[in-house]
Amino acid sequence: MSYSNSIIFGPIPSRRFGISLGVDLSPAFKQCNYDCLYCELEPAKTVSSMQSYPSVKEIITAIEESFEKHPKIDVITVTANGEPTLYPFLDELITQINRIKNRAKTLILSNGSTIYKEEVFNALLKFDTVKLSLDCVSETCFKKLDRIHKGISIEKIIEAMMAFSKSTKHAFVLEVLFVKDLNDKKTEIELLYDAIKKINPHRIDIGTIDRPPAYKVQPVTFESLQSIAEHFKGLNVNIAYKNRPKQTNSFTQEEIFSLLKRRPLTQEDIENLFDKKSQELLAILVKTSKISVVNSSGVQFYKFL
Ligand code: SF4
Repeated sequence: MSYSNSIIFGPIPSRRFGISLGVDLSPAFKQCNYDCLYCELEPAKTVSSMQSYPSVKEIITAIEESFEKHPKIDVITVTANGEPTLYPFLDELITQINRIKNRAKTLILSNGSTIYKEEVFNALLKFDTVKLSLDCVSETCFKKLDRIHKGISIEKIIEAMMAFSKSTKHAFVLEVLFVKDLNDKKTEIELLYDAIKKINPHRIDIGTIDRPPAYKVQPVTFESLQSIAEHFKGLNVNIAYKNRPKQTNSFTQEEIFSLLKRRPLTQEDIENLFDKKSQELLAILVKTSKISVVNSSGVQFYKFL
């Protein structure tokens, strides 16, 4: 079977990374070891390995051909119609991509379920940015929300994520997708906060359902995400929410300090919360080194020093 026309998608402009070239490691159909209630793909039976996939050579050729057509690629995003780390030659693939990528960065979007496998762990270390999901910590929630393939252990995943965070020299982002009445309960949020603190990724993206889900589930509100972000003290939390309400206010210097002491704010938070005058004041505080600006894999955070 030839996959050559379906491996690549894009390039598409991405707010964070510039021009992104998508690489689908499962172009024929969905192959995933989860069957998440919120998945934007069709529901499908879980699998523990891919049965149908392109060869490394096919993928590299497809990337090279895209590079010829689009010389300004900023990031090669490795993903799948399903879970990309189920691809059996991931290590060989990323090694070869790194040889041909020139100035482009590499990014992988994974559900994180296989990180405790040595070969996957080592392959992930070779990406410039690794973004993994972690929706639940309790076994009950994990099974209910992510509908995992048998034998997957959340404890092992969290331990391996902790080890990965210590080992990687690159960017590591964790993503939590909140679903109403499932992982937005107080006890689960507490468990997530404890686990994330131990994992210590560079950034946490929190969001909710924004496309038609595979099963009948509901998103949480923007206000819920805001309150979760405030609860995740000491962490770089980025709220990913489409069409968030704009509620700009005026802040004094002291109020800005107090806000940023509670949690670092992203550029997007600032644009939605600060009126023009407060944004100008913030710029002065940055210039005079009272507030620092940190870039975490394309997301700018304002932090109290
Ligand atoms: S891990 Fe991703 S692809 Fe797999 S079921 Fe969940 S949302 Fe869908």
